[in-house]
Amino acid sequence: MTDSKKKRPEWEEYCVGEPSSDPDRFNVNCRPLKSVYHIAHVSDAYRIFEDRRLRATLVTDESRLKETRSSVTWLSPNIWFSGSFYGNIRFEFDWKELVQGKQFYWVEAMRKYSPVAYRILITDEKPALDLDRYKPEKDQGPLYYDEDNDAWYCNGDFTGEFMFDGDLWLAEGKTVEFVDHHEKICKKDGASCTDFDLRSHQAGAALLSRLIAQNLIHGNGSLRRLFLNKGKLHDDAEASWGNILRSFGRVETTGKLTHKDDPASPLVTAMLDRYGTKRKIKQLGSLFRSNEELELALRIRVAKAFDIPIENVTDSES
Ligand SMILES: [Zn+2]
Repeated sequence: MTDSKKKRPEWEEYCVGEPSSDPDRFNVNCRPLKSVYHIAHVSDAYRIFEDRRLRATLVTDESRLKETRSSVTWLSPNIWFSGSFYGNIRFEFDWKELVQGKQFYWVEAMRKYSPVAYRILITDEKPALDLDRYKPEKDQGPLYYDEDNDAWYCNGDFTGEFMFDGDLWLAEGKTVEFVDHHEKICKKDGASCTDFDLRSHQAGAALLSRLIAQNLIHGNGSLRRLFLNKGKLHDDAEASWGNILRSFGRVETTGKLTHKDDPASPLVTAMLDRYGTKRKIKQLGSLFRSNEELELALRIRVAKAFDIPIENVTDSES
């Protein structure tokens, strides 16, 4: 077969457009690619923290890779303003670091999805299936690497689904943020999903309170960094913290306990665990002398978990 008769590669249909000439705006079909995301439901996100990594999972959908028993971690560059199909907790990774020294293989375009999803395998090794190597610096597809300017772009008109070969350690992540779940569509649990109504900050509050209570975030650990910015909770964590504060603020206090008493810290820890798993906190909270004492004990506990000064943990007055 002569070159002119060769079939055009499938990826050319999804080729990136021209970079914007205005540095403050980008063209959707040529979106700068700096980060990729993995989104999970709260319960799965909790398990990810227990494992300290995103574990690669077997490809089980109608992908070409299904037969190969390949395990991958799914990542996407897209941000959806109408909420995520995959849950509320968004793990962010730096794209350049992630793909350093890796190779790309074109897997497929999922045409029945709307928008169409393109799938690219990111790996160190030659894949089990005979996939075409994709060279982002020269191939005319949805992923483009501008070598001269060391800049990456993707075509935001389509859904990018990067299949990362292997596990991804959370310690290598950039940040963990919270997003709304899509109101009607869940790709994990379908119609039986219980998180459709969960707003970003509610999901964040549930996750954070459990992570603190179970010591999965603690002062000596590296994972607390994922929720911090300049020594304070980052914006999403701060909004979630507001939810926790308000819930604890509604407890009616009738006891004698102050923040200085030994049981104060274990008690707020137990309350955080209960709060994170949708159980009542009012009986335990009632043991405090006042809402001020309860709040102070809670802020001390949170400051300790993140190893930040207590002044950096917002109180209910501000
Ligand atoms: Zn769901």
